[in-house]
Amino acid sequence: QAKQFGSGQTAIFDETMHGRALARLTLESELRRAAERSEFEVYFQPILATQDERLQGFEALIRWRHPERGLVSPAEFIPVAEETGLIHDIGRHVLEQACRQAAQWRKRSPHRSKPYVSVNLSAVQFAQMDLLEQVEGALRRAGLPGNCLALEITESVLMEGSHHVRKTLEALRKLGVRLYIDDFGTGYSSLSYLHEFPFDALKIDRRFTSNLLQGDEHRGIVEAVLAIARHLRMTVIAEGVEEIEQLQLLRRFGCEYVQGFYFSRPIPSEQTAEWLERTSCQPHPFRSHPAAR
Ligand code: C2E
Ligand code: MG
Ligand code: MG
Ligand code: MG
Repeated sequence: QAKQFGSGQTAIFDETMHGRALARLTLESELRRAAERSEFEVYFQPILATQDERLQGFEALIRWRHPERGLVSPAEFIPVAEETGLIHDIGRHVLEQACRQAAQWRKRSPHRSKPYVSVNLSAVQFAQMDLLEQVEGALRRAGLPGNCLALEITESVLMEGSHHVRKTLEALRKLGVRLYIDDFGTGYSSLSYLHEFPFDALKIDRRFTSNLLQGDEHRGIVEAVLAIARHLRMTVIAEGVEEIEQLQLLRRFGCEYVQGFYFSRPIPSEQTAEWLERTSCQPHPFRSHPAAR
């Protein structure tokens, strides 16, 4: 009796495993074809100055328009793309699109505003030997100055502390490209890399922003991050601002830049024009990191 029960469990377990493996294989092969079928789109989310709510730039966020499933979240497919190496093609595509879009903003914007574009890079892309050439090429083909591009990197890239990563970051800085640490405080790395690498800004992860209204300890974390950044002469961008109370606290704490659903969700490129018309965009000069200049 007990044995039967046991084997029955195994069968169910195997089926689930099988189902998962199958779903994964399907995702992989669909992802492979997605690029050829032009199913990827780049969306843009406005980044604003906290004080006057003026537009500073946009973060480029990839979307996959699956023929049957509709929009698939990057949280689902980026990890698979990283494991299969497809991230290299996807990353190149986003970089090219984002630079081209930013060049158009510069040409077409009614107030001669020059919003920058911020592109996410995965750790896997950072391991590529030709990342610098990819960035240079994308800027050149778009005719975009380096200082109109920011690259968002997670702490995991820095954990290895490799010579290649350091050299690449320094070379990117020489192109004028800004470097942001994304999802700050969610990884497992130490703080020591902050002054070792030439970063311009920290992005406060959404979970800290959403916790802002949950009590004093949570506010303390955000205030501490802002203090660290100030000491290192880095700028801070808080993501995931959904409520006016969060914005007010961030303003009070001296967080300079914000993005979030309170202002706008990520939008398709056609809709970015409205943002350029609505707000005369005046990007503030960034403080630069002492190690970088
Ligand atoms: P991330 O870089 O930290 O991007 C911020 C995420 O928070 C985005 O999710 C954005 O849509 C979402 N978000 C922004 N404001 C709010 C808000 O007020 N409330 C809520 N609930 N969410 C908000 P998304 O677009 O789903 O992207 C998820 C992650 O996927 C990104 O996190 C990034 O790590 C990765 N990703 C997206 N696009 C790319 C890409 O082109 N390349 C790479 N390598 N990764 C990407
Ligand atoms: Mg990001
Ligand atoms: Mg982030
Ligand atoms: Mg995040």
